[in-house]
Amino acid sequence: MELRICHLYPDVLNLYGDGGDIICMQQRLRWRGIDSNVTRVLIGDPLRLSDFDLLFIGGGQDFEQEVLLPDLQRGKDREIRAAIEDGLTALTICGGYQMLGQYYVTYDGVRCDFIGALDLYTVGSKTRMIGNTIFRCSDECGGSTVVGFENHSGKTWLGPSIKPLAHIEVGFGNNGEDHTEGAHYKNVFGSYSHGPMLPKNPEFCDFLLETALRQRYGTVSLSPLDDTAERTAHDHMVQRLTKR
Ligand code: GLN
Repeated sequence: MELRICHLYPDVLNLYGDGGDIICMQQRLRWRGIDSNVTRVLIGDPLRLSDFDLLFIGGGQDFEQEVLLPDLQRGKDREIRAAIEDGLTALTICGGYQMLGQYYVTYDGVRCDFIGALDLYTVGSKTRMIGNTIFRCSDECGGSTVVGFENHSGKTWLGPSIKPLAHIEVGFGNNGEDHTEGAHYKNVFGSYSHGPMLPKNPEFCDFLLETALRQRYGTVSLSPLDDTAERTAHDHMVQRLTKR
C-alpha cells in the first residue's frame, strides 16, 4: 500500500509552513509502514492527477495567486475540475482553497477567475482575519475539533452545492460572519487553517489519509498511534483559546 501525493505550486503557495502538512501525512503513514511519495508540480510542469491519490495546495499572498492564473488557465484548471469530479482527495489551504472556487476579487480590486471546481467565491476585505482558530468539523468530515491559525483578507462565501468543512468556534473562518470554516465537496477539503494544519490535529489527518487510501484500495482503517504529544499540543491550544 502506498499514497501518491501531488504538491501543487510548492514554491509559490507555501505560506506559514503549509508544507508541514505534507511532512505530517508522510510521517503518520511511515509509522504504519505505509509508503508515500510526493511529486512537486511547479508552474509550467504538466499535471496528470490520475497518477495521484491526494492533491495538496498551500496558501499564498494575493500577488502569488495572480501569478499562477496563466499557468492554471493553460489546462491545469480543467485537469483539477475533472479529477475532483472523479473523487480525488484534496486538502487545500487558504489561497489554495480560494483558488478552487469561481473567483477571487482581491482587496485591490483585481479579479482572479479561478478554477470553478467548488461552488464558492472570495472577496478581499479591509479587515485582515488573523489569529488562532478552533473549529469543529462536520460529521461527514470526521467530526473532530481542529486548532489552527488563519491569516487572510479574503472573505469566502459558499454556494448552495457545497457544504462547510466545519463550524468555527474561535476565530473568523470563511468570512467572520456566517460561522462557517472551509468547504467540503466530494473528497475535497478546503480550510483557512495554516500552521501547518495537520500536526496538532492527528484525528483530521488520519481522516484525510483514510479518505485518500479508501479511494484507491477500498476499505482502509489506519492503526492507532501514540498521539500523546500531538494531543497535548492540541489540548493546550484549546485550553489557551477557551480558558478551559
Ligand atoms: N491572499 C489570500 C488572502 O489574503 C490568501 C492568503 C493566504 O493564503 N494566507 O485572503
